[in-house]
Amino acid sequence: MEKVIAKKKFGQNFLKDNTVLQKIIEAMPKNDNKVVEIGPGLGDLTKELVKYKEVIAYEVDADLIGLLKEKFDKEIQNSKLTINFGDVLEFWEKNKTLYGEGKYDLIANLPYYIATNIILKAFDDINCENIMVMVQKEVADKFIAEVGDREFSALGVLTNTISTQSKIVVVVPPESFEPAPKVDSAVIYIKKNLSVSLEKRFKDFLKSAFASPRKKLSKNLTAVVSKAGLDSIYKELDIKDDIRPHELSASLYRQIYEKVIKNGNELRN
Ligand code: SAM
Repeated sequence: MEKVIAKKKFGQNFLKDNTVLQKIIEAMPKNDNKVVEIGPGLGDLTKELVKYKEVIAYEVDADLIGLLKEKFDKEIQNSKLTINFGDVLEFWEKNKTLYGEGKYDLIANLPYYIATNIILKAFDDINCENIMVMVQKEVADKFIAEVGDREFSALGVLTNTISTQSKIVVVVPPESFEPAPKVDSAVIYIKKNLSVSLEKRFKDFLKSAFASPRKKLSKNLTAVVSKAGLDSIYKELDIKDDIRPHELSASLYRQIYEKVIKNGNELRN
């Protein structure tokens, strides 16, 4: 078989480290859910996943069709593996979910140029229950950050709000990939609470809250809520006036937001 040249434009860094592959498999949620894999690439992770689960994969690179179809001929025949060729974001846009017949877990070594977007889409996909994905370490730290951490941002608040558990499974050095990326990577695990959803208004509210991350939170929020309204909410919730955006817990963000909405203070945009 011809050697495949990795394409930068598709974020192709193929995982070549068996120890990391095994760590992903060991950390896989134990349940009957299907697995969705975004970007099977040369199929190294796919090969492990199909040993345990039925897999639905999405791959944008048409040059990999032949290779994947040949490699997984048996699994495709017996429906252990379905591969959809095309841009996963377009499938999501069109179908709203990556698997419409029940719950699924997203397990993937993501293309880094769209990794944040993919995780946010998975948060909104009502059939996605668990997310276990490889991303840049810097992105992993943002999603997994806890209140008080320097990296705690709107992404950390969203993860805290939507999940019952979130953690870093393993940190992965550049040498584990071919070609090696410039930065460290990490696999993160997020278990979603399927009874929670993240409305757009809440996401917009958080965007305003973290607009200037080192300024006082109250300063950021007065761009969208009246000063008087905010003062009384701070008092009710016993929040200090000089608190900075990364110092407030996800649950207090939610409470402020709900009070703003309840008080009929439509958010100004
Ligand atoms: N799973 C393989 C592995 O672990 O070695 C490949 C991972 S590589 C980091 C990312 C994969 O995502 C590539 O196969 C790439 O072609 C694919 N990809 C990139 N953009 C995509 C998109 N918009 N939709 C679907 N797949 C995409």
